Amino acid sequence: MIKTLLLALPLLAAARLYAGPVSGPSYLLLSHDPAFLERVAEISEPVYAKGRSRLVRLTVPPAQVPAEIMALLRAASPADIRSYTVPAPSEKAADPAVLSLVSRVNSAGLMGYADAITMTGKRAARDLDASASSGNRAAMDYIENALRDMGYATERHCYKDRKKDKECNILARGKSPAQGARTIAVVGHMDSVGHENAGADDNASGAAGVLEMARVLAGYRADHDLLFIAANGEETGVAGTYALAKKLKASGEMSRIAWAINMDMIAWNRNGLVDIETNQEHAAFAEWVAGLASVYTRLNPNITMPAWGSDHVPFLEAGVPTYLSIESWEDHNPCYHQACDKMAPLSWDYAADIVRLNLAVIAGKARLAPKK
Ligand SMILES: [Zn+2]
Repeated sequence: MIKTLLLALPLLAAARLYAGPVSGPSYLLLSHDPAFLERVAEISEPVYAKGRSRLVRLTVPPAQVPAEIMALLRAASPADIRSYTVPAPSEKAADPAVLSLVSRVNSAGLMGYADAITMTGKRAARDLDASASSGNRAAMDYIENALRDMGYATERHCYKDRKKDKECNILARGKSPAQGARTIAVVGHMDSVGHENAGADDNASGAAGVLEMARVLAGYRADHDLLFIAANGEETGVAGTYALAKKLKASGEMSRIAWAINMDMIAWNRNGLVDIETNQEHAAFAEWVAGLASVYTRLNPNITMPAWGSDHVPFLEAGVPTYLSIESWEDHNPCYHQACDKMAPLSWDYAADIVRLNLAVIAGKARLAPKK
């Protein structure tokens, strides 16, 4: 073993020194967690890096890459990646009914939801095991109560037995009076990576977005059923939404979901851009969404493909047209996945605009009538 090593080391060193362009397939990174990026940098070279899309080529044989790293690499070529803006429609005719809907978004209320979720403590799903007073449990309770207070029927979808409690998604349903109505799903994850009273942007902001959309839509009758999801376990492999997708498929409900919206990190703003992320087959849907942004918000949308790493992916894999709305990844929160992901630097006017955009999307695809 030692002999082999002694022989191999100079060879490896020589290979590093004299290597021409790195060959082999390129891989899309399915996490941008800072610790993961550091580990990947040790075994790869960058091929492409713009916004949400980072491609690398390995500088070691794939067999030598630890399984937990390999699980977050997906073979992809630069040709698979798209990032583009859509010109604003020349005629910006706003529908008064949609203007009335989006005018109901309250940025202070949105901030209040996010602050309450942030201050629940440590929200990692694993803290359900580690602590009797876990923030994850407190966040589930807070969100469920908030949805119930709005008049929704709520449900805990618990998908993992824990020693002390259960890991659950919080669901709220708004039933349409229409016969055979299809469903619109709105998702945002409520768990964090687990720093104390942090994860304000990732993703108290998106979970708050789900609550604010639910609050506004509680004032409307729709010709679609509405399914609001505060997903758990996103930071541990999108666990909650994958488990929910499995259940929705088994019950046949997934086939009734017309399309879905995900909000993950919607409150850090430096450039007024919002990323709309989906897969290639839903490009037209994403472009239509982007067109609404210029009519009903101050956001400049950027479309990015392919989709990875959040709660939109299980829906996309089930064939449901879905997009992720997320702060511009070209200039994203520098405290991403760190203890400093706090409320103070966030912009709730910007987050409110993302909520307005997603409401305008629903109004564009469903018939909504104010209850009074
Ligand atoms: Zn997140």
